[in-house]
Amino acid sequence: MEGYHSPQLDVEVRLNTNEAPFSPPEGFLSAFLDEVRAVNWNRYPDRLAQSLREDIAALHGVDPQQVFVANGSNEVLQTICLTFGGTGRTVATFEPTYAMYQQIARTTQCEVIAAKRDAQYRVAKSEVERVVTLHQPDILFFCSPNNPTGSPESREVIETALLLSDGVVVVDEAYGQFADFTALDLLRGPDGAESLIVTRTFSKTWSMAGARLGYCVAPSWMLPEFEKVVLPYHLDTVKQIAGRVALRFHDEMEHRVAQLGAERDRISEALVRLGVEVWPSQANFIMFRTTPCSLSGDHVWQCLVDRSVLIRNCSHWPGLSDCLRVTLGTESENNIFLEALKEALT
Ligand code: PMP
Repeated sequence: MEGYHSPQLDVEVRLNTNEAPFSPPEGFLSAFLDEVRAVNWNRYPDRLAQSLREDIAALHGVDPQQVFVANGSNEVLQTICLTFGGTGRTVATFEPTYAMYQQIARTTQCEVIAAKRDAQYRVAKSEVERVVTLHQPDILFFCSPNNPTGSPESREVIETALLLSDGVVVVDEAYGQFADFTALDLLRGPDGAESLIVTRTFSKTWSMAGARLGYCVAPSWMLPEFEKVVLPYHLDTVKQIAGRVALRFHDEMEHRVAQLGAERDRISEALVRLGVEVWPSQANFIMFRTTPCSLSGDHVWQCLVDRSVLIRNCSHWPGLSDCLRVTLGTESENNIFLEALKEALT
């Protein structure tokens, strides 16, 4: 079995891991430090992270009993697999998609059913019907917007999965704030879906990839099940504080999402003008293919590295030949990337 690697190189412009290009908003650090000073270091953290869960629940208009928090959304995904997966259980993914679904499924002893996206990298309703009817997977992973292709899922596809499947339906919204669709709407109120889990992270829009904090919103019956498989006190006190303080800066976060959205439109248009094939994105990254310029993805990626710009080379991922993925950076980082790409393509 191979591990999961996102290669890092020492370059000036790093646009390869879909992080936010900015530090947390002004005021975050001092508010955070004020609270950290009052921490009882000799005591274990609040095991259920009650206050943080209440604040996240208020943000989404759900019950705190519907919120589970963990060390990054990867730990949430792992918790889901530990809870509902295991030997003899199956996990369905829709490829190409975020590679960690398969990785986590395997490390938790699940069998993987790799279903396919269509030519535009969308999940077709018919493919969901096929996979569910044929395999009845115990867990289905949807990624909305999909990493690395950038398109969000449709409500119809998620509803089809919920209707047909006996398993749990996971919608990973690590980039959800950038998109016009969220499955969170399906979890609110007395008629909320009973087998849907929506995962989110503080790593992207909240500028906190360094803190490793993520969560999911799910029907309340799942929370005690998740608590059975996670380690006691897995979420430390300092991280719980970081999450609560970050949520106070919600308006700034929304402003940054809008800013990055404008950059996304600008960069997408520039990429089209440079002649590469570009996929419409509703995330903070854009995927493009170098084939129309008669150059390989590997070649273009290396030319960018030579100019001290690092983006993600997806060329060797199944179904993504010659595809590269660029994360949106600051305006000046994006300009450096575009300039370097222009040189690479000429
Ligand atoms: N889901 C998707 C689709 C991602 O791209 C990532 C990060 N690359 C994650 C989940 C994990 O994010 P984190 O563990 O930092 O919350």
